[in-house]
Amino acid sequence: MMDLEFDKNHIWHPYSSLINPPPVYPVERAEGVRIYLEDGRGLIDGMGSWWSTLHGYNVPELNAAMQAQMKKMSHVMFGGLTHEPAIKLCKKLVALTPEPLQKVFLADSGSVSVEVAIKMALQYWHSQGKPKKNKLLALRNGYHGDTFGAMATCDPVNGMHHLFASQLTQHLFAPAPKPKFDEPCTDQDIAELQQLIEQNHPQLAAVILEPIVQGAGGMRFYSPEYLRKVRTLCDEFDLLLIADEIATGFGRSGKMFACEHAGISPDILSLGKALTGGTMTMAATLCTDKVANGICSGEAGVFMHGPTFMGNPMACAVANASIDLLLQRDWKQQVTAIEQQLNDELAPLKKASGVADVRVLGAIGVVEMKQPVDNKTLQASLIDHGVWLRPFGKLAYTMPPYVIDSSDLSILTNAMNKTLGAL
Ligand code: PMP
Repeated sequence: MMDLEFDKNHIWHPYSSLINPPPVYPVERAEGVRIYLEDGRGLIDGMGSWWSTLHGYNVPELNAAMQAQMKKMSHVMFGGLTHEPAIKLCKKLVALTPEPLQKVFLADSGSVSVEVAIKMALQYWHSQGKPKKNKLLALRNGYHGDTFGAMATCDPVNGMHHLFASQLTQHLFAPAPKPKFDEPCTDQDIAELQQLIEQNHPQLAAVILEPIVQGAGGMRFYSPEYLRKVRTLCDEFDLLLIADEIATGFGRSGKMFACEHAGISPDILSLGKALTGGTMTMAATLCTDKVANGICSGEAGVFMHGPTFMGNPMACAVANASIDLLLQRDWKQQVTAIEQQLNDELAPLKKASGVADVRVLGAIGVVEMKQPVDNKTLQASLIDHGVWLRPFGKLAYTMPPYVIDSSDLSILTNAMNKTLGAL
């Protein structure tokens, strides 16, 4: 048996208290779409381990890639050295992402890739002789990570701003996009953002946003037309556009990258989470030739970032295998089938008295409740139904691995219907 008493007294878990810790469930192993607890219970993973698991767990192709790479080298520094797994991966990323994105920086985690994206934008304008262009315009309800640079761009109310306010760079915030995914974006809908840009562009380096799907800051899906209008305004007023596709990348929203819903390309793109198929931590920040050439012809002559574990060969090797699997397995068909089934099977919740909204996009299903839920009780009851979810606030949501079959997905939606419908 695992020493849960030690865990409780000594180990931080994400966003948790060590005085009054919520329960943590001991996991023995994971296989396919199931996480197996120490007591033998198998739970269908409705969270895709926080958007990262696409192909399920213990995947032979991913294991083989890691094993083969391990025998050659698990790690080697990337400063002054390079290797085949990194070259192959960067070739894939350049080929998969919109054409203008040609240069790749391999980072350690999503938050770090956002730090890198922000530094790229600031260094770019510095090298253009415009160091005053050093603020960002972000969206309310946005979420970009927990490190300081990223945190300063998260929603100032539902993020962690107030705790660290004196230490955070003050950026500008536009209202959260109002038009929903299938709605047009009127001039009125974009007016406030437009005004902020018109009035502040001499000090703005970039707009940073999560394209189409605002994740941890509210699980909201917004209009592609809104995103197109932001791109046009960035071009008109000489701002860079940073797209944070850490959650949406690799097919989750129904397109390989959510920017494709709007047919736009950012100047800088952050990827993470599903990059290694949910196996190892790694992220990437891509940018255009214009941004890279600007940075490298500036005062520093180099881009000022270089983590110890940059381009980790094991992570690159498994990312290569994960992308190969994704492309071989017709991810689009998998995601479309999940979208259809989530739409059908979560629909009854629309009528439940405690439910404010049910929305689905790609392989993401969201149930927004009218009142905040008691996460601990709800989670325990979902576990009784054989399902792993992590509701927070008013939101219960699922982004299952793409390989989930329709009967397992029905177990998941059934558990959501039973537990959320009763609240
Ligand atoms: N951006 C977005 C949109 C995210 O969802 C997350 C992770 N929740 C991050 C950035 C931060 O990534 P990480 O947790 O890997 O640092």
